[in-house]
Amino acid sequence: MTLPSVRILHNATDVLRRVFGYESFRDGQQEIIEHVVAGGDALVLMPTGGGKSLCYQIPALVRPGTGVVVSPLIALMQNQVDALRALGVQAGFLNSTQQADERRAVEAAFLAGELDLLYLAPERLRVRATTELLDQGEIALFAIDEAHCVAQWGHDFRPDYLLLSELRQHWPEVPRVALTATATPATHQEIMARLGLENARHLVADFDRPNIQYRIVAKNDPKAQLLELLRTEHPGDAGIVYCLSRSSVEKIADFLVTNGIAALPYHAGLDARTRAEHQARFLREDGLVMVATIAFGMGIDKPDVRFVAHLDLPKSVEGYYQETGRAGRDGLRSTAWLAYGLQDVVQLRRLIDGSEGDAAHRRRLSSHLDAMLALCETVECRRVGLLAYFGQENTAACGNCDTCLQPQQTWDATVPAQKLLSAVLRLQRERRQKFGAGHIVDILLGRRTPKVGQHGHDSLTVFGIGTELSEAEWRGVVRQLLAQGLLAVEGEHGTLVPTDESAEVLRKQRTVAMRREPKRLSRSAAAAPGKARRAAPADLPEEAVPVFERLRAWRGATAKEQGVPAYVIFHDATLREIAARVPSSLAALAEVNGVGENKLAKYGQQILDALAQADSGAETDGPPHSDCGRSVSGP
Ligand code: ADP
Ligand code: ZN
Repeated sequence: MTLPSVRILHNATDVLRRVFGYESFRDGQQEIIEHVVAGGDALVLMPTGGGKSLCYQIPALVRPGTGVVVSPLIALMQNQVDALRALGVQAGFLNSTQQADERRAVEAAFLAGELDLLYLAPERLRVRATTELLDQGEIALFAIDEAHCVAQWGHDFRPDYLLLSELRQHWPEVPRVALTATATPATHQEIMARLGLENARHLVADFDRPNIQYRIVAKNDPKAQLLELLRTEHPGDAGIVYCLSRSSVEKIADFLVTNGIAALPYHAGLDARTRAEHQARFLREDGLVMVATIAFGMGIDKPDVRFVAHLDLPKSVEGYYQETGRAGRDGLRSTAWLAYGLQDVVQLRRLIDGSEGDAAHRRRLSSHLDAMLALCETVECRRVGLLAYFGQENTAACGNCDTCLQPQQTWDATVPAQKLLSAVLRLQRERRQKFGAGHIVDILLGRRTPKVGQHGHDSLTVFGIGTELSEAEWRGVVRQLLAQGLLAVEGEHGTLVPTDESAEVLRKQRTVAMRREPKRLSRSAAAAPGKARRAAPADLPEEAVPVFERLRAWRGATAKEQGVPAYVIFHDATLREIAARVPSSLAALAEVNGVGENKLAKYGQQILDALAQADSGAETDGPPHSDCGRSVSGP
């Protein structure tokens, strides 16, 4: 079978079908692609897994010249290029990790007009040689990936991105496509202004990720809670566990390994080689758990990450959404799980107070955190809250988050709130003292600890007035008061102090409703996602499971042979569809989503062979069942 060169396909739909193997465009893709093919600018806000890449890859293939992709993700360029080459697309990258001769080869290919796509880190545009090189070749378009990095209001600002405002002056004729998976309305405006995209076509896709089940639980015994999640719901699955500090990353990774779970650490304190190796293993091997700080993950386009677990509170809803968005790019059922507790609030508030930058900067950080806390403490659907944050109002309760699966109750916590606040105030007014939550709770519970004795706190009128709640419940009260702004923390030790609003509670001018700490979600509730099941058509019929496993084994061996991640060969979703349909010819196989011409030519026959083998049970070594017995012995 001879393949048409990718370069002679002039029509976007042809490229979609023949190169990528997809039947139809997703919502919004076609409009953007046609607009850019015609030379227009575009700003694409689409959730992770939504299909942003096609919005610049297809125009780059259709338009004459090379599509130049600006991306901050140097460590991932090799993978991106590998995945494109597997589709028959000519791609290359220029970055600081390259040898000089490699770089020259890519430059020569670019100048000869042989490249469809060229990946660049933003800082390369600082270098004169780069702009000179680009001036000598033909540029189809500029794609600005992770465009939210240009916004100072956002959560991930990168100064190098400011350079990108110059693209328009330097190459006024070249269309620009900016793309991001996280942007609140404010960030959206800022991207537009900074990149000069006022006349661009804007695509704001539906930000919902229905296949992700969002769950936020109270942090009691985080290690045990995590282990239970992985063992009961995600055995053998690939996933990411986020922690705030390097040391907790190391500890949790060790803990998982000790408990028989294949896990690797990743944080900025590891040397570059170790980091690169761990990242490569995560991408290439099946079922690894990456325990990481948020230094890990941007641009990781591994499609089969089945869970993202947070053991510490993210600093903003944007961060949370982006990190959890790394789960389930393939559209299959996935879990976003966050455990958070009082200590998280104290620690993040402390980080904000101690952060560099002006008061406005701290206010910005603080409002990001407040929004995150509101999401944690809501008794409404998490998804509704999340989407509202990104400007998507009036969505219905989702049926696939913890609050939907197990409706949350509120309770009137006015009296406990008054007790706690009055303990804080008394210490401050009568004794000029401030303490952290632990000691205040001890006082309320009437515990005669050494510290209580030392300060004579057992003589306070509030001593022992709170025995109706347990310690854990009191910590929940403190956490929720902090989240509601009725209490604040200050200083290195996280001491509790009243806020202006505290007085209203004490004066009985205001009641306090709190979320009742739910019992943990039962397994059956967790496994009953309303919407996700529809979004994940690939739940396999039982008889297809061994076929799928055989295909996976074939894919694993092939990927290893070629030194690429398994998903570069085929995604899980594609293998599942093959296993369910069992195509018996190349033509039938070509119908499967994700099987383009290049992959059909390369792997089609191997797949059919693997299916035939699976069918005859050639390599199964269980006892022959009765049919086989008869046919062997003959009539
Ligand atoms: P994003 O960059 O928005 O996170 P990707 O571009 O990586 O998402 O796309 C996510 C997945 O969806 C990829 O596997 C991609 O090939 C697939 N995809 C994108 N567009 C389509 C389409 N029109 N039909 C089928 N699959 C698609
Ligand atoms: Zn919900």
